[in-house]
Amino acid sequence: MAFDLTNRVRPALVGFEPYDPAFTPCEVNLSANENTHPMPAVVRKAIDQALTATPLNRYPDPLANDLRDVLAARHGVTRGNIMVGNGGDEILFNLFFTFGGSGRTLVTCPPDFSEYANFAKMCEMPIVNVWRHSEDFSLDVEALIAAGKDAAMVVVTSPNNPTGNLVDHAVIQRLLDETDALILVDEAYVEFAAEGTSVVDWIADNPRLMVLRTLSKAFSCAGLRCGYLVADPSIVDMLSAIRQIYSVDVLAQAAAIAAVTERDAFAPVVADIVAERERLSLHLGNIKRLEQWPSEANFILVRVPNASRVRQRLRDEYSILVRDFSYAPGLANCLRITVGTRQENDLLVDALRDLVKEEA
Ligand code: PMP
Repeated sequence: MAFDLTNRVRPALVGFEPYDPAFTPCEVNLSANENTHPMPAVVRKAIDQALTATPLNRYPDPLANDLRDVLAARHGVTRGNIMVGNGGDEILFNLFFTFGGSGRTLVTCPPDFSEYANFAKMCEMPIVNVWRHSEDFSLDVEALIAAGKDAAMVVVTSPNNPTGNLVDHAVIQRLLDETDALILVDEAYVEFAAEGTSVVDWIADNPRLMVLRTLSKAFSCAGLRCGYLVADPSIVDMLSAIRQIYSVDVLAQAAAIAAVTERDAFAPVVADIVAERERLSLHLGNIKRLEQWPSEANFILVRVPNASRVRQRLRDEYSILVRDFSYAPGLANCLRITVGTRQENDLLVDALRDLVKEEA
């Protein structure tokens, strides 16, 4: 008899498929919003020393207290305000697992980070989509506030992936004032935005506010899998009670402590990425039939004729990988380009200029 798993799988999980971004090895990979600049030598050295000094025979500290102390010091909060996870992804999943479930709605503002919808579905948390305006991807603020009034949680992303724009502080304030929902501000890319963009300082006065951060972007540590939430201690305690106890392993904890301690060394790298973003945007602006949106993150969303083919030809003929969003609702013919090094960006612009001309 044929073995059919469908009837055995939890109904909410039927149809999910393994995440495979189809990374074709390419000389220039601008597809996953990683930091493509070399890690500062002083940080790499500190990480290597920390890893060498870390025994592997013992379990990790399940509370990751040393790492939480370093992160708390970074943000001027206490250890009790910090929850760490195996990337921001794990924390998102745990948030929806903990605060979702039947009848507890999540409000999201697509196009945004696709994992919100995936994880919420897995956690059987109903989703209400408040679509962004199609021309500039700004939020539909009145609809968002209205939806937030009936929600368990609202997630806004600042800067937003993949559109690159920020959420006004006034909108976050209104969500706090006019709804009773938990408000999650995903700041995975905030280090690339203007000073003062983060609302992490608001945590002390707003126990329903949660801020998600990651070491995967500005800190160059996507492979390490370490993200964290800054939130009220009652939220952190609840999440700590349900999380996979050892999901942030000893090596990740040791490396993350070293990277965050040496954070000043990342400042020139981040400044360079921001400068490159502006230069890249200027060059993209000279390509006819290419539309782009202003970005405060380490990527730029563009729209070009025949985007899927352009992406494929970039990969096959120029060995440059970017992310195709053409399939996503609201993002027809859109590609997301991670800001790379100066050399990578130049290669991308030259290739794109030729391909857009040919495919137009
Ligand atoms: N939030 C946003 C908006 C993201 O784009 C990402 C990663 N692409 C994450 C959270 C999670 O990042 P990580 O799991 O690497 O910390």
